[in-house]
Amino acid sequence: MHDCLFCKIINKEIESDIVYETDNVLVFKDINPQAPIHYLLVPKKHISSIMEIEKLGFPEIHELLNTIGRIASENDLEKDGFRVVTNTGSGAGQSVFHLHFHILGKRKFNWPPG
Ligand code: 5GP
Ligand code: ZN
Repeated sequence: MHDCLFCKIINKEIESDIVYETDNVLVFKDINPQAPIHYLLVPKKHISSIMEIEKLGFPEIHELLNTIGRIASENDLEKDGFRVVTNTGSGAGQSVFHLHFHILGKRKFNWPPG
């Protein structure tokens, strides 16, 4: 058995502010938001990062990526722009080793990100 914070959130063992949920994906608010909109999109199946995406089926991957656009539309993020980030490895700032996409919006973003 692994001890994964996001699996516990998915299993409702830990409370979170859920934005969107299906059988395959969950979107919830980041506890430490870096933007007015800062959601975390996760597959319900545990994989540690984008490096293990092959362990998901095509329908799950399709739904996962489609959810980004759905959330952006529902929150009116497209016009002003938004950012999707998946930190991969501790060197890039990954602190929870269950694949997640940060969806950030309604703030100004710098590029390059630094
Ligand atoms: P990472 O650093 O792995 O890219 O992102 C992990 C994210 O999870 C961080 O932005 C952090 O604020 C968020 N986080 C950590 N613990 C919790 C929690 O218990 N609940 C929620 N909703 N977010 C969390
Ligand atoms: Zn997990």
